[in-house]
Amino acid sequence: MPDKKFPYSGFGSAAIHAGHQDDPNYAHITPIYASSTYVFDEAEQGMRRFSGEEKGYIYSRWGNPTITEAEERIAALESFGLGDERGNPLALKAILHSSGMAALSTLLISNLKAGDKILSHYSLYGGTQELMEKILPALGIEVIITDLRDLNKAAEAMNADNKIKMLYLETPANPTIQCVDLLELTRLGKQKNLIVAVDNTFATPYLQQPFQYGVDYVFHSTTKFLNGHGTAIGGVLLGKDIDHMNGHVTKVHRLLGGNSNPFDAYLLTQGIKTLEVRMQRHCHNAMEVAAYLETHPAISKVNYLGLVSHPDYDTASKQMRHAGAMLSFEMKDGLDAAKRFIDKLQMCIRAVSLGTCDTLLCHPASMTHHGVPKEKREQYGITDGLIRMSVGIENIQDILMDMNSSLPNLSEGGA
Ligand SMILES: *Cc1c(COP(=O)(O)O)cnc(C)c1O
Repeated sequence: MPDKKFPYSGFGSAAIHAGHQDDPNYAHITPIYASSTYVFDEAEQGMRRFSGEEKGYIYSRWGNPTITEAEERIAALESFGLGDERGNPLALKAILHSSGMAALSTLLISNLKAGDKILSHYSLYGGTQELMEKILPALGIEVIITDLRDLNKAAEAMNADNKIKMLYLETPANPTIQCVDLLELTRLGKQKNLIVAVDNTFATPYLQQPFQYGVDYVFHSTTKFLNGHGTAIGGVLLGKDIDHMNGHVTKVHRLLGGNSNPFDAYLLTQGIKTLEVRMQRHCHNAMEVAAYLETHPAISKVNYLGLVSHPDYDTASKQMRHAGAMLSFEMKDGLDAAKRFIDKLQMCIRAVSLGTCDTLLCHPASMTHHGVPKEKREQYGITDGLIRMSVGIENIQDILMDMNSSLPNLSEGGA
């Protein structure tokens, strides 16, 4: 059987093997342990497991072998090649949740209390923004939003209010694909003793490893690129303070009840195996699509981190291995043109979400941001003609053909 201490020199090997435990029945793939509870040989053993004296499962809201494998694999990837302050390999604890939002809830509730404030950027995942604006204030937790791409503004905001306890970063972020500087912001945050947390969903650990800059927490919606196949909702919270993670954070996770389940964990573990090759192909295809769109006469603007024209191109090049799979673009003729284009697509899929093998496109103004007043939307760069695209791993010529036959053909003067 393979040696679990094998020093994988490649990220892709770790994505396939890390965290795997030999199965007592010699199954090659870790089975789906569909069991809510676990047996004690005798009362004494139950006591030892509860006290932590003996390792072992007790109840599946607390832990499950199929879930453990997914957690250990993601921890191995997020810490891949990184060291701690003493030069030892960085140790991380990962806790799998039922969704990205559940992982985020555990993060916030285990680290903040009434009176605390969060500092963040204005471009955030919609659910995160709503949680911060509509749920946290009732718990006495306030959010301060500024433009964190401006480091002077970030420092000013941190200095202006000593109630700020957490710096919350999401990079790249929806839907204009903005980036914030992980190195500089973490440095500023740590000068003020802030907890620094990063939503790394869009990048994945293959493209970006925030722990390298000294952040405290990373979280993912595993629903997206980590699963990669659109088969399960999930989220993971990772932390480097192992005692705190095993103590208070685990307690909060168990009591809030946002646990994952063995079937979703199994799907996730299988999906992660191909993360490296998928991300390489995603990024390659996205670059081709962005270059194609940039020269198309029906398109006024392309937001892609691999294009020098993106305002955050330098930040992205500094902290990401490649520019990612996410892009957005604006149709010159606004709402109707955007709808017409999206309705014509034949292979690419009209859907929200991202990170699946197939290409997904959505129209934020009529879908994800339908309820946001037009003026507010436009402040965030969500114009009527904006289309967001999660570029898939189909053969690039098919993606381009589908796009080309769905966009207006202006060169023939028929527009
Ligand atoms: C999807 C997503 C979330 C929320 O995750 P769920 O799995 O849907 O709960 C959070 N952040 C980002 C960037 C996302 O894309």
